[in-house]
Amino acid sequence: MPRSLETLAFENAYVALPEDYYRRVAPEPLRNARLVAFNAEASALLDLDPAEAARPDFVAYFNGEKRLPNSDPIATLYAGHQFGVYVPQLGDGRALLLGEVRNARGEKWEVQLKGSGRTPYSRAGDGRAVLRSTIREYLGSEAMHALGIPTTRALCVIGSDEPVYRETIERGALLVRLAPTHIRFGSLEVFFYRRRPEDVARLANYVIERFFPDFRKLDEPERFAAFLQEVTARTARLVAQWQAVGFAHGVLNTDNMSILGLTLDYGPFGFLDDYDPHFICNHSDGTGRYAFDQQPGIVLWNLRCLAQTLAPLAPRERLAAALGAFRDLFFDEYERLMFAKLGLSDPRAEDAELLADWLELLARNRADYTIAFRRLAEVVPEDPAHPANGRLQDAFTDREAVAAWLDRYGARLAQDKLPPAERRRRMQGVNPKYILRNYLAQMAIERAQDGDFTEIERLLDALRRPYDEQPAQARYAEPPPAWGRRLEISCSS
Ligand code: AMP
Ligand code: MG
Repeated sequence: MPRSLETLAFENAYVALPEDYYRRVAPEPLRNARLVAFNAEASALLDLDPAEAARPDFVAYFNGEKRLPNSDPIATLYAGHQFGVYVPQLGDGRALLLGEVRNARGEKWEVQLKGSGRTPYSRAGDGRAVLRSTIREYLGSEAMHALGIPTTRALCVIGSDEPVYRETIERGALLVRLAPTHIRFGSLEVFFYRRRPEDVARLANYVIERFFPDFRKLDEPERFAAFLQEVTARTARLVAQWQAVGFAHGVLNTDNMSILGLTLDYGPFGFLDDYDPHFICNHSDGTGRYAFDQQPGIVLWNLRCLAQTLAPLAPRERLAAALGAFRDLFFDEYERLMFAKLGLSDPRAEDAELLADWLELLARNRADYTIAFRRLAEVVPEDPAHPANGRLQDAFTDREAVAAWLDRYGARLAQDKLPPAERRRRMQGVNPKYILRNYLAQMAIERAQDGDFTEIERLLDALRRPYDEQPAQARYAEPPPAWGRRLEISCSS
């Protein structure tokens, strides 16, 4: 049964945690707020009737002019390692958790406002988010979900006339996002550094109770080791998916690392256009700490911070063993995904070389990552004159090198048991045609800044079915125009 805004089934478990885990904060409404984008697919997660978005109260509630019945807005406390340095207090500086909504399937979804004004954790910040970054997170998170990658979700974007001061004067906006929980590694770290291991244990138990109930029966030291093992496994799988699809997060600080292995806190993120393994999407990341190819190592570094936080609670060797599993978990998953992208149904050890040479070819030619893989699904290696082979070659500057690699690839495929049509079908199912390229997001943003919000929905419509051909949407599968290559995405948001 779809619910109205007034009858959403709010529960607020976080407020039952000790008082200094959060602060109650009333949102500060944005001036002249209006609905910019609404995602009916995400509203279904709350059992919210999508027709409710048309009511003026929809904006009034999420803009904090009215309180949603039974919601209890709080800003949560956390800390984190930012660019390798521990920062003792961060916390929701511009986000508010309204509570959890339980749906008819028994799932609970945290509802969070991002950009709703200052909180006790705002430090020097204004508590606001700008329209640009809010649209990027809205599109980015829904695109990731459609690609099958774990992520927070986005319910809507609310825009306003509120001036917000960044490099230029922009307009304030607000994202309503959803996740089973927004708890981060930093939510636990803060208590370790305050020498309160009992609070690390309490919050870990909170997560275990709700999300990893199988561990409840384990005794405490063992339970926390199992917890780290589970977070490690989820995080390893997540980063393998990022690497396979060509997603760079941009700010992999421990306060942006989800305890559930979700993609969290979309800032200066970017999907690869041309394949550059050292791609740095965050304009402020001068040393490339969070470059694309650094992500698996950085994520492991972040997991070490989490392990340290759990060290007073579990035997060191058990925590070390959990971390030690990361390498194999990551590489096994990454290879599985990449061999599937190559269309190999029974991969062997020697295929690693075929893959490495393909990626090297992409990097050397600065070929478009998404387009090259998509065109690879079409090739007919046994017929060198086939036009599909030519189309693949056209994605590279060195056509001869592609032809040579295709010979090897063809020989390898001849030994694979999949019939060509089935291989093509499977490859199209794992090599997306549509990704959220920076220039596409930029076009939707510029239109929205001029008051036309329709491009957001049109673009999202294509991104919702990234693996389908969708001929009518083919313009969204184009590589970036000259102006749209290597757009500098500032960290300000
Ligand atoms: P981020 O780099 O966006 O993950 O944010 C790091 C920390 O800064 C988090 O604690 C945020 O809540 C906080 N923060 C970011 N932007 C703002 C802002 N405009 N106002 C207040 N706090 C902010
Ligand atoms: Mg953050």
